[in-house]
Amino acid sequence: GFEPASRIATVGVSKILQIGARAAAMKRDGLPVIILGAGEPDFDTPDNVKAAAKAAIDRGDTKYTALDGTPDLKAAVVAKFRRENNVDYATDEVTVATGAKQILFNAFMATLNAGDEVIIPTPYWTSYSDIVEICGGVSKLIACPAESGFRLQAEQLEAAITPKTRWVLLNSPSNPSGAAYSAADYQPLIDVLLRHPHVWLMVDDMYEHIVYDGFEFVTPVAIEPRLKSRTLTVNGVSKAYAMTGWRIGYAGGPKALIKAMAVIQSQATSCPSSISQAAAVEALNGPQDFLKERQQSFKARRDLVVARLNAISGIDCRTPEGAFYTFAGCEGLIGKTTPAGKTIATDADFTDYLLETVHVAVVPGSAFGLSPYFRISYATSEAELKEALDRIAAACEKLS
Ligand code: PLP
Repeated sequence: GFEPASRIATVGVSKILQIGARAAAMKRDGLPVIILGAGEPDFDTPDNVKAAAKAAIDRGDTKYTALDGTPDLKAAVVAKFRRENNVDYATDEVTVATGAKQILFNAFMATLNAGDEVIIPTPYWTSYSDIVEICGGVSKLIACPAESGFRLQAEQLEAAITPKTRWVLLNSPSNPSGAAYSAADYQPLIDVLLRHPHVWLMVDDMYEHIVYDGFEFVTPVAIEPRLKSRTLTVNGVSKAYAMTGWRIGYAGGPKALIKAMAVIQSQATSCPSSISQAAAVEALNGPQDFLKERQQSFKARRDLVVARLNAISGIDCRTPEGAFYTFAGCEGLIGKTTPAGKTIATDADFTDYLLETVHVAVVPGSAFGLSPYFRISYATSEAELKEALDRIAAACEKLS
């Protein structure tokens, strides 16, 4: 029989993908399923970006490129960090990969020895801990519930650091909580890190362009340049430019780390797609005004979802600063009974109940390491969101 390698023994197919597959199968069977599980914008890739890709094909940019990014894309990344983040990275301090996911993979593969610890606040994007474990590391999960704004606190960080800590991984705005760290939120964590020079900081800024109510996005290296020699600043074009399928992520970090990451990439993919890199150059260098419009549209949906969720007895939803997710608490529903006589004992019981009875697919907090919560992705039309929330409210009313 088939025996997988031990390095993937504890890693399963993502719960999010499982729910998505089940919901899609129900839809194929003719059920009116609404899927609020997807982690991608419902907008299209901008036309100027598509045109740049077509031009790249026509001029023959269809061969292997430089290992970790074309000179043009690296220049665009350097310019982006300077323009938007006020951080100066040199060309040999940036890297490009097949999605931010591969950036994380390259970085952990290149730095983790067996047993090295990575501190990850929960709720977290599920891939973080799975990638860490595949790379032989140990994820140290720290619970950061709604009461602390879903943000890691300095005392928690201090207590979690051991001689084996290699990285702390922060994500702002966060998938799944939508919570973001302001400069004031980051400062106490930075102070802790300055006292522990062996700990490196990885920040995932993927959702930086999706923030609301005047929230000022900031990346840690811009606040504290002394951290630059041990920080990897991760970003990508997937979410901001609605380019999830193009698979381009990038990062800035110290030269030695960037070089080590390129070693991994050289034996994994050789280089990111040449055509996608040309498209990403245009995304980063081209007009940026549409980002504000899309923010407005996301904000209207966020406000709708948060208000409708908080109107449901037993559900408590914090207003997120960014991204396109809400992570609502459902503690008030735990212990209740469904009309079919089943007890809602966990958040997964609740999300199963929603999918089975009102055909709305959302993801339980357990998939993100923190319960009892559930995540809604509101990157879908307002009409669909309204219908979904009507159904969720009706389903909750039937619990006793
Ligand atoms: N980081 C976060 C927080 C995400 O939510 C995602 C995608 O869901 C990624 C990174 C991965 O992005 P990419 O498409 O660049 O691999």
